[in-house]
Amino acid sequence: MGTGILTIDLDALAANWRALARVSTGQTGAVVKAGGYGCGADQVATRLAREGARQFFVATAEEGAALRGALGPGPAINIFSGHMAGDTGAIRDHALTPMLNSPEQAARHRAALPGHAYGVQLDTGMNRLGMEAPDWAATRAELEAGPLTLVMSHLACADDPGHPQNAAQLAAFVAMTAGVTAPRSFAATGGILLGPAYHFDLTRPGVGLYGGLPFAQAQRVVHLSLPVVQLRDVAMGETVGYSASFTAMRDSKIATVSAGYADGLIRYMSNAAALFAGETPCRLAGRVSMDLLTVDVTDLAEVPDHLDILGPQQSVDQLAEVAGTIGYEILTSLGGRYARRYLGQ
Ligand SMILES: *Cc1c(COP(=O)(O)O)cnc(C)c1O
Repeated sequence: MGTGILTIDLDALAANWRALARVSTGQTGAVVKAGGYGCGADQVATRLAREGARQFFVATAEEGAALRGALGPGPAINIFSGHMAGDTGAIRDHALTPMLNSPEQAARHRAALPGHAYGVQLDTGMNRLGMEAPDWAATRAELEAGPLTLVMSHLACADDPGHPQNAAQLAAFVAMTAGVTAPRSFAATGGILLGPAYHFDLTRPGVGLYGGLPFAQAQRVVHLSLPVVQLRDVAMGETVGYSASFTAMRDSKIATVSAGYADGLIRYMSNAAALFAGETPCRLAGRVSMDLLTVDVTDLAEVPDHLDILGPQQSVDQLAEVAGTIGYEILTSLGGRYARRYLGQ
């Protein structure tokens, strides 16, 4: 087979959810936007529903509609982008819960679907999504009179426990939600780790479920193994790949491996990232191309038929660091060409 093998360990994912649920003081939901952070929203959500998750979050109504097909009736599917023009049919037909972000969205929702459950997202300082304090003050009485299922907000700096914006946003959330009887939700993965003051009634972990920082104790969920297509000897002084950016400093052995930037292994990894033969790191030699990587395997006594790029030897965050990005982006860029295998489905 010429494609990489992406193995998603749903047992590890479930263990991560349970670990975050154990420290959460209230209920624990699950964020499965962007195709479950590249791991497969349907498979991830179905497994977490089996573990007891009842509150799921996605970015758009389209994602929510697709997820309802996998989850069936029952669990709440909450939509961060709220109720956009054109979303009414999906929200109604798939029993989605929009997190209303503005007075305009609130008016649209209440006019189009009177009596249909909704949440409200408040902006407590991130300035990205959610109602600002004056909008909330002006619409609060009306919104609290309807089927309001959740009042939520999102932290901008939760991955940095010492950042003063955490406490400032917490104070703003407490002030804006004083007297609210609907359940409140404030913490994603980073917020859970900030401690119980940030948890409220429902936490919303995303990246930690998938084995990413800032949840340092997370189990690894993603394993990516890439087939070696060809092996060649390259004499000292010869170059490898586009723009001849790698020059062999010794007589070398180069493995050509099937996967490239079209599979989410971004070009910035060129001449820097490592693949692994067992425990032995082998560095990329030359540019990442669309479908192929070239790897310096000179030091291996024997070249295996696959080299690993994600797994026990290298986490999504370790690979991200070499690539100048974050684990979230490595996960959500995982390509559509890989053969996907699920453990613990
Ligand atoms: C993505 C997202 C989350 C999950 O965040 P993680 O850092 O991945 O845990 C929670 N809430 C909102 C509003 C989000 O956009």
